[in-house]
Amino acid sequence: MSGAEATAIGASERERQRARLGLLSDVLLETTRFFHEEGFTQLLPVMLGRSTDPLGPDPGSSVLKTVEVDYLGQRFYLMNSMILHKQFAVRDVGKVWILSPNVRLESAERRGSGKHLFEFTQADFEIPRARGADVQALVERYFARLGSVLRDHPAFLELEVEPPRFAPPWRAYTTHELEARYGAAWEEAASHEADQPFWANCHRREFYDREDPDDPGHYLNYDLIYPFGYGEALSGAEREWDLAPIRARLARDGMPPAAFAAYLERATDLIPSAGAGFGIERLLRFLVRASHVGDVQLFRRVPGEPTVM
Ligand code: ASP
Ligand code: MG
Repeated sequence: MSGAEATAIGASERERQRARLGLLSDVLLETTRFFHEEGFTQLLPVMLGRSTDPLGPDPGSSVLKTVEVDYLGQRFYLMNSMILHKQFAVRDVGKVWILSPNVRLESAERRGSGKHLFEFTQADFEIPRARGADVQALVERYFARLGSVLRDHPAFLELEVEPPRFAPPWRAYTTHELEARYGAAWEEAASHEADQPFWANCHRREFYDREDPDDPGHYLNYDLIYPFGYGEALSGAEREWDLAPIRARLARDGMPPAAFAAYLERATDLIPSAGAGFGIERLLRFLVRASHVGDVQLFRRVPGEPTVM
């Protein structure tokens, strides 16, 4: 390849990145408008928490460790997610949302998954006294509106991709149904077959997802899965607010008590709530049909890939 050709290819990739980032800017604006109009208070993120999301047990997580920072005699954890803080925020403030930077040190094998980053931002929200159905309806309103607002965005023309056609309400399955049909790797297989996002409900995972009181062993949680093989978009749940099951499940999962002491001390008067979080980079990847979620980051954070800047 001659120097001139290399420059031309470099320039056009830069144009494509500019188009993606222009779309990102408008996605963020519309997301902010949506939550504002729905009556949510936007909070600023916490980055160092006295307790944070354990990210497990969750079959989807390969996180190697949670970063600990000892500072002035206290131990802090770099935020895996703001879920535990959201439980206090929803009690004290009401409907809240946050653009929350998360660090999740996934294993190097996740490099090729196309959807994992070790640093990303999620739109994380929580609603007091809501049920899962309320959250799913809100998420469907959000995507329907985003799709219609962005339909004529110039980035789609420039990137030569079809704008998304979100047509909710979306189908809902339990993970048991999906596993029976597609096996343990259901997420990828079912996502490839779908042409609309769909809900996957009832995972056994972190202690803060509420167990169904009428159906023990089943959980009142939900993931949204993108179609065409793009996989997980969002995860959320109705929450455990009663300290007794919270303690029992932390013990069942073998979680180190010291890491949750700050949370447990204050979790004596939590309220019922439900919410979810969706990755902004994964959303953008889906919108522009990028082959890897790192492709939509100006500063790539792909596990197992050398990071330049
Ligand atoms: N934010 C998610 C939730 O609301 C948890 C996560 O980040 O995985 O459940
Ligand atoms: Mg999760």
